[in-house]
Amino acid sequence: MNKNAGYLIRLGLLSLVAVIGFDLFLHAGILSPLYKDPGTFLLPPETAFRLIPLGYLSFALLIVLLEWIIVKLGVIGFKAGLKYGLLLGFLVWASLCLGLASIVAAPYGLLVGWTVGQAVELGLAGAIIGAGLAVKSLKEIGLRVLAIFVGCVILSVILQNILDGRVTHHEKAPFVVVLGIAQDGGVPQAGTKEHQGWAFDTQRRRVACLGLVDPVSGQRWMFDATPDFPEQLHMLDEIVPVEGKPGLSGIFLTHAHIGHYTGLMFLGYESLGAKEVSVYAMPRMRRYLGSNGPWDQLVRYRNIALKPLENGVPVPLNERLSVTPFLVPHRQEYTEVIGFRIDGPGRSVLFIPDIDSWEEWDEAGTRIEDMIASVDVAFLDGTFYSGDEMPGRDLSGIPHPFITHSMNRFDALPLPEKAKVRFIHLNHTNPALWPESEARSTIERHGFEVADEGERVSL
Ligand SMILES: [Zn+2]
Ligand SMILES: [Zn+2]
Repeated sequence: MNKNAGYLIRLGLLSLVAVIGFDLFLHAGILSPLYKDPGTFLLPPETAFRLIPLGYLSFALLIVLLEWIIVKLGVIGFKAGLKYGLLLGFLVWASLCLGLASIVAAPYGLLVGWTVGQAVELGLAGAIIGAGLAVKSLKEIGLRVLAIFVGCVILSVILQNILDGRVTHHEKAPFVVVLGIAQDGGVPQAGTKEHQGWAFDTQRRRVACLGLVDPVSGQRWMFDATPDFPEQLHMLDEIVPVEGKPGLSGIFLTHAHIGHYTGLMFLGYESLGAKEVSVYAMPRMRRYLGSNGPWDQLVRYRNIALKPLENGVPVPLNERLSVTPFLVPHRQEYTEVIGFRIDGPGRSVLFIPDIDSWEEWDEAGTRIEDMIASVDVAFLDGTFYSGDEMPGRDLSGIPHPFITHSMNRFDALPLPEKAKVRFIHLNHTNPALWPESEARSTIERHGFEVADEGERVSL
């Protein structure tokens, strides 16, 4: 058992090599899924990669401590070393992770993973040190450590490839992106004299609109063509650049109120002069566009190509995506009013920017709660927060379910159902537009959300 300093240093270095090999396997391999969504707690991967030597130095210090204890206690042999390594590893890392849990926003899964993984890692170091103290020469142990190291590297590469495949698959999932959350008139609305939004873009809100993107096929669709179409198309271009303009595989229209279709004008002769952009619309809406100026010019010049929609009939977009329109009760001066259900390979989204009331829909035989249950995320009419929002204007003439009413109605739903709801189509008077408002915090406290421009929902 009397080993000289040189022997102990070589033994320590050998266990460090084994630990580094195992650590690679642990973090680049089995624990790597835990690093996928660590919020702001972890450094960006490139920075963390550059700082790896610091981590290895930390292992070296722990191994010095472990070897010191093992030699002092006279622990000899593989098994006894393993036990002490595991024990010390657990005590050190559990204490560190508990401390971290109390002051940083680290996900608990990651902390538990670290505690267990690092305990096993130090167990390995202990086993090697214990075994090294039981023999005269380090030759055989050296060869085994080498084998462990190479084995770990190979396993990590294999695991990385498997997990990477999954990550890539996830990254290639189609997604919905919110391009606007405001009611037809936008925010600030025309005629508003004083508004931060005139000077600061962050205080503006564009008219309610969703983009749909399939990164694999490079296709993009829009739900409603709003007066903010130029900027919303630009947002899409920044997210997924495509050749040609407007680079849209289709536009789905809910109805003919100004915030929902007038953006079509930018496809025309006086603007980008599009060629046969598919515009999906219900029968009355198609007739309306085809027989009223200036829209009929878009049809005649073939800037747009009208495609039929039928209530409840899914439109396949490609092999991964489909869109289903459904009628909703709403003022129908010119056209039908519809909402959409967007189905992807894994998830689905509901888009109902305009509806008169949930109760009227009940009478027509559709319960909004059933619709919410059948999707993963529901963008719902949140035009007005409550009845006392527009002094001097009778809100009964412009019916929408108030957000306060919707919250009441959905109150009994389980939390995961409530969490699907994102209010959209907010009027310029709606206090919930602003993240710091009382209204917004009430909405969030009740388990609902307000849609956010730029927010994505993967399908
Ligand atoms: Zn509207
Ligand atoms: Zn409307």
